[in-house]
Amino acid sequence: MGQHASGVHHHHGYVEDAPLNTAMPAHERPTRLDAAEVLQTPDEVAQWLASTLRAAMGKSEEEVGFTDEWAQWVKFAQAGETITTGLRDGPTISAVAVSEDECRCDTTPLVPVGGKKRSR
Ligand SMILES: [Zn+2]
Repeated sequence: MGQHASGVHHHHGYVEDAPLNTAMPAHERPTRLDAAEVLQTPDEVAQWLASTLRAAMGKSEEEVGFTDEWAQWVKFAQAGETITTGLRDGPTISAVAVSEDECRCDTTPLVPVGGKKRSR
């Protein structure tokens, strides 16, 4: 305790091949599924939701822009909220807000580009 700034969230993207009404509760996904994507900023969250939804619908960016949804998604993501969307017959697509404490992706830190170890 102490070092963590509470309220620091990022989002994990999950795609579950099930309709919304049979999909697992969003808060269970981080413990039961591997994140398809780790999303660090609200823009990344909206971007990922839009492209994943489009892929599920088989539509192009010209066909579905998600303009209204985009603003909502960014707002929710900024507030650290979990966003769940999807198609009626599946898949269920969700960006789950994960606090630094809950996050398991910390255990596999990103390798910095260039890969050189800095010594002090
Ligand atoms: Zn994480």
